[in-house]
Amino acid sequence: MADSRYRSLNDALRERFGEKLYKLTLNGGCTCPNRDGTLGTRGCIFCSEGGSGEFAASPLLSIREQIEDGKRRLSGKRPVQRYIAYFQAYTNTYAPAEKLRRMFTEAISCPEIAILSVATRPDCLGDDVLSLLEELNRIKPVWVELGLQTIHEKTAAFIRRGYPLAVFQEAMQALQERKIEAIVHTILGLPGETPDMMLDTVRYVNSTAASGIKLQLLHILKNTDLADYYEQTHFPVLSMEEYVDLVIRCLEICRPDLVIHRLTGDGPKELLIAPLWSQAKRQVLNAIHRELKQKDTWQGRLYTP
Ligand code: SF4
Repeated sequence: MADSRYRSLNDALRERFGEKLYKLTLNGGCTCPNRDGTLGTRGCIFCSEGGSGEFAASPLLSIREQIEDGKRRLSGKRPVQRYIAYFQAYTNTYAPAEKLRRMFTEAISCPEIAILSVATRPDCLGDDVLSLLEELNRIKPVWVELGLQTIHEKTAAFIRRGYPLAVFQEAMQALQERKIEAIVHTILGLPGETPDMMLDTVRYVNSTAASGIKLQLLHILKNTDLADYYEQTHFPVLSMEEYVDLVIRCLEICRPDLVIHRLTGDGPKELLIAPLWSQAKRQVLNAIHRELKQKDTWQGRLYTP
């Protein structure tokens, strides 16, 4: 019931595939231009050593082995027929196209893989990579997940994102021209941003060809520059009530067809410094569902094209 108030990923997958699909988080061993010295060495201010891929498998295993390993881990929990091969850690198009071809082809050649999902940066989508993704997209659906986080240049500079909004815009355009689905990651609660600024980011995503959005709560993780900044400044982090309210406001203005891939954070518990309430993910989701119902509101209620 709660889900029907917004277009959840599970609903969208059931509509399209007739069943729920589970993500297998894979690691192709790519790095990131924001870490290898090309753009910087310390990464985005919030990025942990794992390149935001703490749940990813070991890159020492082959892709096929990682898939088998992930399946084994899920099999105890539920019967699963098909999966999403999710390349999550670091920048998964930051490698020669031939390496990417081998890596992605190994994943989609597994019959149980229904979707290839690639997390990357918009400044790492050269023509050769786009052509490869376009080709693979004819075999199995390909999703490209882009970490936008915010449209505000000042915040983008503060978090050391390393590219201007215009680059994101061009990448979205290129993906649209090649009919490749794009999912946009945004972060709620970045230092210095007001709720209106965050809503502006969501409005902007509405105006792009994105098929989906991830609303991610800012996590302050150990061993990041953000953790040091937090220790020095004690900048305010969102309370659970504020976050629930903000997510609902985001959903209300979201394009009705935008698939909501995420509504909370998904950080590793052992690294989390704040906000600690976010560990109770189920509780946060329940609060969002409850509030949507109580307010009798839904995704797109206040959407204006
Ligand atoms: S682009 Fe991604 S992997 Fe690279 S530093 Fe930023 S968050 Fe980390």
